[in-house]
Amino acid sequence: MSEPIVECEGLVHIYRTTDVEVVALQGLDLRVEPGEVVAVVGRSGSGKTTLMNVIAGIEAPSAGTARVGGYDLARMTEQERDRYRQEVVGYVLQHSQANLATDLNAFENVLLPMSAGSAADSRQRASFLLETMGISRLAANYPGELSGGEAERLAVAIAMANQPQVLLADEPTAELDRATADALLRDLRQLLRESGSAAVMVTHDASVERHADRVIQIRDGRTSTQTRWREEAGEVVADELLIMDRAGRIQLPRAYVERLGARGLIRAHLEGDEIRLRRGDPESTDG
Ligand code: ADP
Ligand code: MG
Repeated sequence: MSEPIVECEGLVHIYRTTDVEVVALQGLDLRVEPGEVVAVVGRSGSGKTTLMNVIAGIEAPSAGTARVGGYDLARMTEQERDRYRQEVVGYVLQHSQANLATDLNAFENVLLPMSAGSAADSRQRASFLLETMGISRLAANYPGELSGGEAERLAVAIAMANQPQVLLADEPTAELDRATADALLRDLRQLLRESGSAAVMVTHDASVERHADRVIQIRDGRTSTQTRWREEAGEVVADELLIMDRAGRIQLPRAYVERLGARGLIRAHLEGDEIRLRRGDPESTDG
């Protein structure tokens, strides 16, 4: 396996307000390979935006490790944090308009985060980004003149301005209808491929899964199961990967729990490096 571009282990994030503590992430594990597109799916309140903010370098982890593109996010100086946010990650915030400077047109919005390189190079990259995201014709338009889908496309172009190693997108399709969302995600993937960037997209919309290499479920601030899609004899097959934490705990997908039809005792049978699970029978003691 290659060096991961994102590696979170036992990631914890606690929000402290005056009288309450909210544990938004409680021991989350996540590993993303360079160029990989990962969808993190979970209900509202499961910690998705918190995860994005931590990887974006906006919130520091309370505990655990988070390494992204060679940076240790738990131990960054302010200077490193600025450089990290400028060079390593691009972030599409949950509400697309929040990403846009209202007094600049679309082209100027994409130019804004670019600092390195010549002006000519920047303009060329901005044109390429608008082109790939299918909004070249809107280059001179202001954010207030864009539809939801167009604003989201522009937000992606801005986040990709500095060719980040990792694109982060928080619910990129939440405000869009199905067809608009699918078209946007297709163009987004094309742009990621051409830029060689990895992506972590968080969503409560399960249909985003089809646009990712891998899907991770997040529940109560913790990753539970992963699904990796692969082709087998022309058919797309889903492989469930279960995550075992350091204490050896595994969370089974709901469908498996239903199939086993039981809580409590489960018989685990180890054969070489394979584990077989059966419904446990408390009465019998034989193998
Ligand atoms: P999601 O994006 O999956 O809906 P969030 O990461 O926004 O989840 O929130 C996870 C948990 O953390 C929720 O219980 C939420 O209420 C809480 N939370 C989020 N942001 C803050 C904050 N700034 N202060 C306190 N609690 C927060
Ligand atoms: Mg959120």
